[in-house]
Amino acid sequence: MQKIIGIYGASGFGREILPLVREQYVNTELCFVDDGLVDSKLNGYPIYSYQDFLDLPQADKFIVFAIANSQIRESLEAKCKQDNIKNAPVQASNSIILDQVEIGEGSILCHFTQLTSNIKIGKQFHANIYSYVAHDCVIGDFVTFAPKVQCNGNVHIEDHAYIGTGAIIKQGTPDKPLTIGRGAIVGMGAVVTKSVPAGVTVIGNPARLLVRQ
Ligand code: UDP
Repeated sequence: MQKIIGIYGASGFGREILPLVREQYVNTELCFVDDGLVDSKLNGYPIYSYQDFLDLPQADKFIVFAIANSQIRESLEAKCKQDNIKNAPVQASNSIILDQVEIGEGSILCHFTQLTSNIKIGKQFHANIYSYVAHDCVIGDFVTFAPKVQCNGNVHIEDHAYIGTGAIIKQGTPDKPLTIGRGAIVGMGAVVTKSVPAGVTVIGNPARLLVRQ
């Protein structure tokens, strides 16, 4: 075969998205790429170091970044770009995208995710299982949704924000969107009722700043 897709990150999330990639890209050779674990197999597929992946004979190489840490995704993306490795977007067969949704390269939409209408999303977005994004949301680059995130309408989420499992984000309005700042972390189960500044962590219901002792 002339084409191969590497799933970068042979860990938990990598194993979770492998079946999605297999279903979407039929008759395509698949492997894992990992800088830590090499020379072995995972769930029946080989794990290569990045250099070994580059050295494979297939002419057409694609990559999926299956690593939740967004800073790592950004640096791996830069490396792969330099080597002309293309992104393979991943969309589970039962994920839903309605009207006027713009989505950047390299995104992963897991099973049961829903993007409704009039949404703009940057590159390398991860939407883990059962997450949704409602109308008029604007999401930056390298944003990560853990499972079951509920992001209501008119919310703006800036680059590198991480939204934990089961978090609920209250809707904003067209003239005053609720904003989650760059690199902010929303803890699991948090109920976010007002904008979150860049770089902070919020937890609880209603979500409040986490003060580290
Ligand atoms: N990893 C990598 N290159 C990096 C950073 C991480 O290959 O620069 C691999 C790491 O060896 C591990 C996986 O990515 O196998 C990340 O696993 P982790 O459990 O931290 O992330 P998750 O699967 O939860 O996203």
